[in-house]
Parts: sequence; structure tokens; C-alpha cells
Amino acid sequence: MTDALTLFDDVLPEETPVDNRLLQVRTVYAEPAAAASPRGRQVLARFPDAELVEVDSHWQLPELHGNAGNVERWVRVKSETLVLGVKKSLSTRPNGRSADFIAPSTANGCAMACAYCYVPRRKGYANPITVFTNIEQITAHLRRHVARQGPKTEPNQCDRDAWVYDLGENSDCSVDAVVSDNVADLIATFRDLPTAKASFATKFVNRQLLDLDPQGRTRVRFSLMPDADARLLDVRTSRVDERIAAVDDFVAAGYEVHLNFSPVVLREGWEADWTALLQQLDDRLSAAAKAQAATEVIMLTHNEGLHEVNLGWHPKAEELLWRPDLQQPKVSQNGQLNVRYRNDVKRAGVTRLQELIRQHAPWLPVRYAF
Ligand code: SF4
Repeated sequence: MTDALTLFDDVLPEETPVDNRLLQVRTVYAEPAAAASPRGRQVLARFPDAELVEVDSHWQLPELHGNAGNVERWVRVKSETLVLGVKKSLSTRPNGRSADFIAPSTANGCAMACAYCYVPRRKGYANPITVFTNIEQITAHLRRHVARQGPKTEPNQCDRDAWVYDLGENSDCSVDAVVSDNVADLIATFRDLPTAKASFATKFVNRQLLDLDPQGRTRVRFSLMPDADARLLDVRTSRVDERIAAVDDFVAAGYEVHLNFSPVVLREGWEADWTALLQQLDDRLSAAAKAQAATEVIMLTHNEGLHEVNLGWHPKAEELLWRPDLQQPKVSQNGQLNVRYRNDVKRAGVTRLQELIRQHAPWLPVRYAF
């Protein structure tokens, strides 16, 4: 164990120390190559009081395991811990739903704690943020991948004329942007790629992103649900009102701003609360925001293992999320036992929500719903 200043002969780069309620970092676990890289050193400089602990692999951190069901411990680990690693294999995968492709992640883990979060938890249930420091390799990989596609000649549900790359499969990019400049570098990369567009969903409003000049090549999808659900389920996130208030500012700053209605939770009174949310959007968003908006609708999927863990710390959330009377089992691609709404229940829910959107927010096309 050492601190960052004694590890390096020269001083760390000049960075403003992070002052954010989500990240009170005390320990940075780092592979030596990651800590020594320019991006790793930037992260260390943003958290100058943190202790640096060298590790052989960013995946093998037994200290972070074993906290299932202990939310106070989770939140402490999420706030107080970061991991730095080098991403070894870079691959871009086809998607076809929200995005054409899933970009290699530049981070995984999250400082927030949504009760339904399905981001894989390979660092214990707390799953704090790991930053991948080889950002130049990742952006070079993306540039090559975009070049290989050529122009998009046929519109699809992802976009009319750009190949869309999802950046945030395993993390929340708005929070990642507090920790390092990886997201800024990705936004700058896509700024110069006229046939492609970056995209990420977020539940956190980071106004530093407003300075990054995306020039329309990054799509931010603000994730929304009725406030009553979010207060129970979206733990540590920005409040729904704050996310809605950010939409116009992000449009004015050059982002394409879409919405992400996810997860849609069916419960008594859901239709009235979604109606209120849609009316709020209709009242609050500017004409400019409405003119470019679209949304996706994703019904809740839950997981038996997560249900068991949540019962230990947030049983009230499980009253909404675990509904055997409405749900059916589904084995996911990675073999996990998931549950989702029964086909008939889901179909009726999707149809009803689309009706409500047409009625209360007719300016909002639904890119896809499932
Ligand atoms: S913000 Fe996203 S990644 Fe973070 S806990 Fe919530 S669902 Fe998971």
C-alpha cells in the first residue's frame, strides 16, 4: 500500500479534486500499468487523499466481495472505492435494440444503487466503479469499427442515418465523467465521426457534460419513471425532476436528448402516475427538445438472486419488483434465472403506455418497446 505521490517520481497532473456526494474516495485499487498511465494518473489526481493499493487484476478484489444484503456497507464501498484497470480485449458487439452496437466499456460498476440494477456484479454486490485507463486504444478501436461500417443507408429504430454505439452498458457515463475524462474523450471521438453517434442512458445529471461540445453526435437518454417509483427504486440517483429540468439544457449544449422509460413497473396506480409524468414532460420541455425527442420503453425484468439480496436491505422495493402473480421465469442468455411480466401482462402494459404517450405527449415517438 502506498499513496499516489510516493509511487511516482514526478508530481501528478493538475486536476481539480472531485467534490461530489457520490464519491468520497478513500481507496483506489489499481493494476500498476493502469496507475502509471496518463488516465490513471488523472484519476489519482482527482482524488488526492485516496490511498493507492496495487493489485494484480482489476477483477480479483476479494476485499470487495461478501457484502450481499448489507446496504450500508454497499454504499460505503461504492462511495469510498475506485478501481483502475487496463481493458485487455476490445470488442464491439451488435445490438439492434436501443443501439446498433455496444461499444467496449470504458468503465464498469456504478456509484448509484438502483434496486433493479442488472449491471453484472463481479466486484461483490457493491460493485464500485472501475475505470479502464487505455482510452486511446478504445477510441482507436471505435474509429476503425465505424470506418468499416461505411455510411448507414437504411434507417432503423436506432437512428435514421447514423450507426449508434451504446457507451454505457456496464456503468452510468454521467458519473464516470466525474471520475475521469474517458467520457469526454468518447464524446470528442464521435464529434468527428459523421456516420456514427454515441449514446448512453443515465440517471444522473452531470452539468460538466454541458461543456463538451458534442455537436449532435452524442445522444443522452435520460431515464425516467414516475417519481413515486423512483423514490423507492432509484437509490442515490438524481431526482426525476432534476433529470427533466436538464433536458432543455443538454439540447441547447448540442446533445441529442432522448428519453428512456425504464424500467416500467406495473403496480396499482401506474397508469395515473405515468400520465402525470407525461403531462409534466409536455409542460416542461421546450419546443426544441420536443422536436428531436424519442423514447424507448422497457418493461421491468428482475432476477431471483437480486430479489433475495434486496429482501435483506430494501424489502419495500421488492413489493414492487417481485410480483409472482404477474411474472414468469425466463432464463437469460448468460444462464441467470430472470423473471419478467407474463406475455399477456407485458403486452397489455406496453400497449397501454403507448396509448398514454400518444394521448399526453404526441410529440414523443417510441423508438422501441419491449
Ligand atoms: S444508475 Fe444504472 S448502472 Fe447505476 S445502479 Fe442504477 S441502473 Fe445500475
